Amino acid sequence: MTNETNKTNGQTPVLTVNDLRVYYETPRGDVRAVDGINFTLNEGVILGLVGESGCGKSTAAMGILQLITPPGRIVSGEIVLDGTDVLKLTTEGLRQLRWSKLALIPQGAMNSLNPTMRISRQIEDVVREHETPQTRMNKDAMRTRILELLQWVGLPERVYNMFPHELSGGMKQRACIAMAIALNPSVIIADESTSALDVVVQRVVAQTMLKVKQQLGVSMIMIGHDMGLMAQMVDRIVVMYAGNIVEIATVNHMFKNPGHPYTQLLIDSVPSLKERKPLKITEGITHDPRNPPPGCIFQLRCPFVMDRCRAEKPLRQAIRPGQEVACHLYEAQPDGSYIDLREVSDVHDA
Ligand code: SF4
Repeated sequence: MTNETNKTNGQTPVLTVNDLRVYYETPRGDVRAVDGINFTLNEGVILGLVGESGCGKSTAAMGILQLITPPGRIVSGEIVLDGTDVLKLTTEGLRQLRWSKLALIPQGAMNSLNPTMRISRQIEDVVREHETPQTRMNKDAMRTRILELLQWVGLPERVYNMFPHELSGGMKQRACIAMAIALNPSVIIADESTSALDVVVQRVVAQTMLKVKQQLGVSMIMIGHDMGLMAQMVDRIVVMYAGNIVEIATVNHMFKNPGHPYTQLLIDSVPSLKERKPLKITEGITHDPRNPPPGCIFQLRCPFVMDRCRAEKPLRQAIRPGQEVACHLYEAQPDGSYIDLREVSDVHDA
């Protein structure tokens, strides 16, 4: 099921996020939108970032891109892209990094494209912004490059002279992909880039993004909540809950053996064509995001909560190769394996 590209073995880290915290200031205290996340994105890999609305996935992406605006702020962390700590860059350093090493396909292309400028001009602006006197293209070379990009994402030549309002939603999204790949970045972040599209157009856009990974070897972080689409597109999935990462696993593990109780509920909520099953809802209440409880972040909604969960925050641990879970249900054994306490004791679905 994995889509891991053949171009690389997916083992070389391109982007490492260490202990990233992004808080939003409110009159009654800081909301901990992202509260100490750690993950690595390897070369030529698509990493899916999933979780319910408000879990912090888009905030994490905006943090990586350094696009957090007040009342939000990055409290701490380290974001290393191709050996550079992004958080230590100057404004000029960040300007040079954006698009050339780190590009964004934004949520809702309709709102991100400039309605008053032709598509060709918007792509040209991205390229010109990073040109030097030595690399400056003349008008003809620029036109050729833009047409090449449009063709690459499957858009007809006439789009060159069109304005955003003349394009369909899927075409706009592909124009954004053309801008994102214009400078061959190492990493592209796609923020819910297919969620506003109908399923047929969604598939076309998804195929274009897979082509970016497979033919250009670009690593991607794909943010979304459509687990079905994730299953088809990504190599690994990061599950976030209330600003924390609760599980990271390959797509195979995630769908065949989800480890964290929250992931299990997420997978159970995916409708199946094969069997009729009642919609599973995650019961319980969520905590105050300004004042998370000690212990496990999911304890108020977890059907398997134990005393230990209320006192001790579970660390993320590899319960099998390719799957890391932050949950006290998994207990390390002397031989390095893990047992699931639900299989050996009376921990049960409440
Ligand atoms: Fe549930 Fe405890 Fe695991 Fe948290 S640590 S997910 S509360 S079993």
